[in-house]
Formats: sequence, C-alpha cells, structure tokens
Amino acid sequence: MPRKIQILPDHISQTIAAGEVIERPASVVKELLENAIDAGSSEILLELKEGGLQLIRVVDNGEGIDCEDVPIALQRYATSKIKNLEDLYTIQTLGFRGEALPSIASVSHITITTRIPHSLSGTKVICEGGEIKSISEVGCPVGTEVEVKNIFYNIPVKRRFLKSIRSELRYALNHFVRLSLSHPSVSFKLIHDGRMVHQYLKTDFPLVRIEALLGKEIYDHLKRLELEDGEVRISGFASLPAISKGNGDGIYLYVNRRFVRDRMIYKAITEAYRHVIPAGKFPIVILFLNLPPFTLDVNVHPTKAEVKFKHPEKIYQAVSTAIQMVLEEDPPRLEETIDQADDKELLSSQKVQSSFPFRGPWEPYPLLDSEMEEEGIPIVRDSAESPFIHILGQIRGTYILCEGGGNLIFIDQHAAHERILIEKFKREYETQSTTCERLLVPILIELSLEESFILDSAVEAFQVIGFEIEPVGEKLYAIRSIPSFLSQRDPKAAVREILDELSLFNREGRGTETIHAILVTLACHSAIKGNYILRKEEMEELVENLTPFNTSTTCPHGRPIFFILPLDDLKKQFKRK
Ligand code: ADP
Ligand code: MG
Repeated sequence: MPRKIQILPDHISQTIAAGEVIERPASVVKELLENAIDAGSSEILLELKEGGLQLIRVVDNGEGIDCEDVPIALQRYATSKIKNLEDLYTIQTLGFRGEALPSIASVSHITITTRIPHSLSGTKVICEGGEIKSISEVGCPVGTEVEVKNIFYNIPVKRRFLKSIRSELRYALNHFVRLSLSHPSVSFKLIHDGRMVHQYLKTDFPLVRIEALLGKEIYDHLKRLELEDGEVRISGFASLPAISKGNGDGIYLYVNRRFVRDRMIYKAITEAYRHVIPAGKFPIVILFLNLPPFTLDVNVHPTKAEVKFKHPEKIYQAVSTAIQMVLEEDPPRLEETIDQADDKELLSSQKVQSSFPFRGPWEPYPLLDSEMEEEGIPIVRDSAESPFIHILGQIRGTYILCEGGGNLIFIDQHAAHERILIEKFKREYETQSTTCERLLVPILIELSLEESFILDSAVEAFQVIGFEIEPVGEKLYAIRSIPSFLSQRDPKAAVREILDELSLFNREGRGTETIHAILVTLACHSAIKGNYILRKEEMEELVENLTPFNTSTTCPHGRPIFFILPLDDLKKQFKRK
C-alpha cells in the first residue's frame, strides 16, 4: 500500500515556491497550527514559553500520523496534501509544500508524539537539528503533539535577531488570532508561561468567535456582509462608520479560509470607506472570499501570505460592492453633514481684527509697498503696516485664513492645534508637572486580545503620563485616572488610539519613544478636527497660541501647519504689478 505521506518528485518540488519558512517562533506557531487544522482537529492547544523562544507546543485531536509516516513527514517535500501539480489548483488545505516540519526540525529540538484513530499505540520521534535521535512506540491520545524547543539553537545569528519575549509573543499571537478567527468550529486554547491566557470554545457562529477575539465594542459595530457574484462568494463582517482604528490591523482578509495580504483588496475596502470615516482611519473588516481553487494561485509567496487572482478586477468590484452595500444602509455620511454646514456658516465670517501681536513664522515676509495704499485697499494696508494678524475666516471648516505681514496665511487648524498641544504635553511631562485626574466612576474598556497585550507591555508608560488602567476581568480594564490635559474627552477612544499607534510601530515598555508616541497620539486625539466650525474667538486663541512655535512649521506627524501666499503674488496675478 502506498504511504499516505509521500515525498514529492523533483519536478514538483522545484516548481512549488519554496522559501525560508521559519523566520521566528511565530512562523513555527503558524505552521503547527495550520497542520493541526489541516488534520481536521476540533480542539487545538497552543502552549508557549517565553513568547515561543523557549517552547512552542501544539496539541491537536486530529487524524494523527501513521507510525511509518512520521520519519517521512520530517523530510523535505514530504506531504500528504498534494500528489501532483494539478492538485495545487484544487487545494483545500492550508499546507501543501511539505516544508514546515523539516524546516522547523533543522533549527530546533523537536519532538512529535502522534497516534492515528485505529491504532492501539502511538509514535514518538525525537529530532535535533534535523537529525532523528530516536523513534519509539508510546501510549498517547489520538492526535498529534509537536513540541519545539530552543529555536535557532544552532544558528546563533538568527537567534540574536529575535526580538524581546513580548514582541515575539505578539507575532505569535497574530497568527493565533487570524487562524482562530477563520475557524470558529475549532476550540482553541492558549497557554503562556504556564498561565492559561485564552480559551475559545468551538461554535457554529462566526460572530461568537469574533466577539471573543476582538471584543464586544467592535462586535456591536459590525454588520454582516454577503455577496455572490458569479464565481466570487463573499461573506464576513464590516464595521459601521461609528467605529474605526488608527491602523489597518483590523482588516482580516481570507481567501478560501487562508489569511492573506492583498493590496488590491485593501484598496477596495479603504476606498469604500473613504468618505465615511475620517482620513487616516481604518475600518474593521473580516472578509472571507470564496473562489473556485482554479481561479487562484496559492503558490506565489514563500510563507503563502499572498495569492494571485486570475481575474483581479472581478474581485475588486465584488469586494467594493459588498462593502458599499453595508455602508449604504447606514446614513448619514460624514461629508453630507459637512456640506450642509458649509452653506450656512463657512466663509461667512467677516474680517476680524485680533488684538495679539503678530510674531508668527510668516514675519520675515516683506511688507507691502506703498502702491497698495494708492489702490485704496484698507484691509491690506492695515495689516502690512501693523504687527497684527487678521483672521479673515475659515475655509471648509478646516483652514483658518489670516492676513498679516503682507501675506495671506492659510493655517491647517488641526495640524496647528496638534503642534500647540504636543508642545504643552511635552513641557508638562519634562517638568514632571503632568497631573492626573481621578475619575469618580472608573470607565470600563474591553480590549481585543492584541490590544490587551500591547497595554500590558506599555502600562508603565501610560502611568507616567497620568493614566491609571487596571485589569478587572478577562480583556476588561478599568480606566481609573486620566491625564488632566485630556479634559475627559472620550478617554476610551484616546486609549484605543494610543494602542493602535503603539501596535503600528511595535513599541513597548516605557522608553522615551513610547512616551513620545503616546503624547503625539493624545495631541492628535485632543486637537480640533478638520471639518469643524470654529467661532472667531476660538480661531484667535488658536493663532495666538501658535505664535511661540515659530520654529515648528509642521505638526508632530510632519504635515505643514501653514502655507503662505504673499499678497505681492496676488497682485501679480491681477496684473497690478
Ligand atoms: P504540509 O503541511 O505542507 O503537507 P508539513 O511539513 O507541515 O507539510 O507536514 C508534513 C506532513 O505531515 C503533512 O502533509 C501531514 O500529512 C503530516 N502532519 C503534519 N502535522 C500533522 C498533524 N498535526 N496532524 C496530522 N498530520 C500531520
Ligand atoms: Mg504544514
């Protein structure tokens, strides 16, 4: 009888896009979890020690490996999932290259204990650096247990390149979340350093799993997404405009249940949300694309993180339509509200003269020549001669138009306010005068699994700034105090934005960089937004507060704060000069 696991013949193994599969402990986690899923398991346990640096153990109750197949499974290109090249185009499993086990085995100490359903005993193989040390018959439950220790023990250079335990744990966690999100019918358990971190019971309802992984708040803002368009079937969930994230981590994209990254699909999603959520924000979307396997090449990327579509334009269109259908049911849109406001108030403000001295960054520009006086334009002459800045009005609720020192000055109100705030926050932090405000009633915040890890790793930095946040339950935290400068402006949203920012840059601990990142996020969070109508006094105050920062011409994110148009240029435009 032919063996179930076979070594692929050369002509196939050379065709499949092989790669450096194992980059870090998380890659091992991904491969082992995928194997467990492919084995048809209904229960999977992942145990890690020191973020996987010391131990990665995956136990499943799947179909197991026959005793004679075990040593074969450890050889390169040995797989039970494809037999010939054509199979690649009907593939239903996550694995198919027969590379993972041998790659893992060659850089670690691996022990596989496994039993198939109808066998009375199981097999245990111990392997070090790719060399099988022992094979024995053992008693064990049906299924497979793979234990990987001392990853990269024989490649010190790679080991040195690994990050801290926390960071490695987060990489691993990402795979855990992605796979458990797409396989709700499998129970997943996660143990880290001997502590049970999470347990998700199998369920028939994907939303139950989503709630467990991403938290109730996100769950409450999701709408079901469903579309069938020829060969393309789309299902999943997309967030309503009321909620968004500061990064794209909330977009989970699956093609035939395989988590993938795909620029084009991201674009279809972000475009659909473009006028619905603020610029720079991202939605939460869990999207399952189902396609006939022959319309797709899953074999284009070393870690199979990308796929290639036969008809990308069809996919773009379908995703775009599916998301739009969800959003169309949920008016009003951000833009509409703004447009109405535009008509009524914007640009209607009259020229107002503010009383503060004009010492802005625009000072060096030349004064107007006496010609202007002859033209009889009092506004211009006033400003040209006096060190005052005049606020002329607001444009589209976003830019403040001023005039002074012979220039027209356009100020981006959000960028300007952000700069003012960050300087204030930094000063308070550096002089240790940041005060915190204790909340009478703590605010409860439910975090996703990933967010809770980020918070745990940056809790000290939060503290230094004035946030007191305490765990009160599984993924549930109580915000007990906030920095006084936050003035109670939606502390929950502020905490979430900070976590998004920290996640984006993979920062942790309480180093200056982390603190700076938190302050920048808080400045952005607390700053006046664009599309927001300001009263005259508010504009005056803003411009006045901006003047000490002559040297900072950009907001903390590097966007310009103002733009200057010399009135002389205006004159030239009108052929007055
Ligand atoms: P691939 O998944 O691409 O086939 P792997 O190197 O990951 O390659 O695994 C080799 C083979 O070992 C698989 O094809 C499968 O037959 C067997 N195998 C690996 N892990 C398990 C498991 N947890 N349960 C059952 N069989 C497994
Ligand atoms: Mg595999």
